[in-house]
Amino acid sequence: MNTKIIFVSGGVISGIGKGVATSSIALLLKSRGFKVTAIKADPYLNVDAGTLNPIEHGEVFVLDDGMECDQDLGNYERFLNQNLNSTNYMTTGQIFKTVIEKERALGYEGKTVEFFQDPPREIIKRIYSCAKVNRAEIVLFEIGGTVGEYQNLLFLEANRLLKLSSPRDILHVHLTYLPIPSSIGEMKSKPAQMSILQLAQAGIHADFVLARSQVAVDDKRKEKIAIACGLAAEDIISAPDVESIYQIPLNFENQELSDKILEKLKTKPRKSDLSDWKIMVNRVLTAKKTAKIAMVGKYFSTGDFTLSDAYLSVIESIRHAASHFDIKPKMRWIDSAQIETEGSGVLKGFDGIIVPGGFGVRAVEGIVSAIKYARENNIPYFGLCYGMQQAAVEFARNVLGYKDANTTEINPKTKHPIIHIMQSQKDNVKYKNLGATMRLGAWEWKTQKGTTFERVYKSTTGSERHRHRYEFNNKYRKEFEKKGLIISATTTDGYLVEAMELKNHPFFVGVQFHPELKSRPLRPHPLYMAFMEAVSKQKKR
Ligand code: GLN
Repeated sequence: MNTKIIFVSGGVISGIGKGVATSSIALLLKSRGFKVTAIKADPYLNVDAGTLNPIEHGEVFVLDDGMECDQDLGNYERFLNQNLNSTNYMTTGQIFKTVIEKERALGYEGKTVEFFQDPPREIIKRIYSCAKVNRAEIVLFEIGGTVGEYQNLLFLEANRLLKLSSPRDILHVHLTYLPIPSSIGEMKSKPAQMSILQLAQAGIHADFVLARSQVAVDDKRKEKIAIACGLAAEDIISAPDVESIYQIPLNFENQELSDKILEKLKTKPRKSDLSDWKIMVNRVLTAKKTAKIAMVGKYFSTGDFTLSDAYLSVIESIRHAASHFDIKPKMRWIDSAQIETEGSGVLKGFDGIIVPGGFGVRAVEGIVSAIKYARENNIPYFGLCYGMQQAAVEFARNVLGYKDANTTEINPKTKHPIIHIMQSQKDNVKYKNLGATMRLGAWEWKTQKGTTFERVYKSTTGSERHRHRYEFNNKYRKEFEKKGLIISATTTDGYLVEAMELKNHPFFVGVQFHPELKSRPLRPHPLYMAFMEAVSKQKKR
């Protein structure tokens, strides 16, 4: 079978779930027996997402091979339950970089390098190379941004060219939005019609339209869109708001989306199996208990909504694990600056505390106080990267008595640099060699025998994904262990600290890596499972 490529674009407004829709279609086609992969194409000139502010752009997701990419790759991995790699992510920056480097090497042999021809060709080349690397029969290609803006035209042009050369192998799915203005009280389809027509102006006829709205789209509006845009009404798929994003593929499948797609691709399904997925969704929806989890970090003035995007994988990982303990988690953002002014009393009543990854100085003392509160009051604590580093700082100050202990990220002059930076990283910072130079991607760990860490993983070795510059200072290992904060895992050479845990505490674990990058709805991460188990016990207490 030829490689099939399904482009996915979005219209009307951003943030309506293009990544989840792409992931859902990918999952459905996988459940029909095909090898599937997905690509995210971001229109901006950044070469990767590592230099983007997560508060503006959402979480920086990291793959095994160290690629720092858009958070949608996290959705793809979670829905597909597959590891992806750097071929699954592209930006206009990467495309231009390759085209210009090729031109400088006389790769175009004297020909004029054309803005609207050569970059789309490079995009197409990369799509097939991704299919090859991932051995995929079907590639989902999600076009970042919204139809109608200039930035993503090169990706649409790649779509148009491919459709011309292989019409039977290429489809386009357009995700659009139907508002229900409160003053009218009726679902309006005009913006959706406009976005579909705008796509047509770029030379692309949508094969399917996913109609996002608060509620299901009725037949009347489907007819309207169908007539105005030259589509069959049955190819307009209703995509209402749902409680859990994991319901979305099931909702699409109730409208026979995978059959309809395969029919247009002139391909027969090989099987149909969503049983595990259905069991998982049912468990998530029917969980009866609640537990309150505090996420402590510096607050960003753009509001809670943006914050939750910046820590998407952490939130999803908690959800994956929580349902196994019959829990619907209630997560609350606690501003560490508030702890600095009001004290850690604000943490009263929480069943678990998480300090997620982070950078920089602002409001860090509030984070340290939150960790002290969790340690002294036996509240389950889970520190992720920065959260492990600050747990080490807190322990050094309040248990070992080194009052000025710190990470050199915050106080380069501290007499007790518990967390410090290694020479190679120092040079990167000094020479502003800052793109893709952190400790990134999968690193193997080995565990110390008899630790919670070993018990939880049921393994003495494994691999987790990283994204940081600073490390635990080995000079303090012995002292820490003597006083009860155990180094529970290191890199396989024993050199870099990968995890720490407190003795005689219900659950106090800090990890230098990001376990949330590997949690999947069908395969919750063991550390998140252990944390949620402790949270559920804490609730009973
Ligand atoms: N700022 C810390 C470092 O660079 C932690 C980074 C993180 O939490 N991802 O090491």
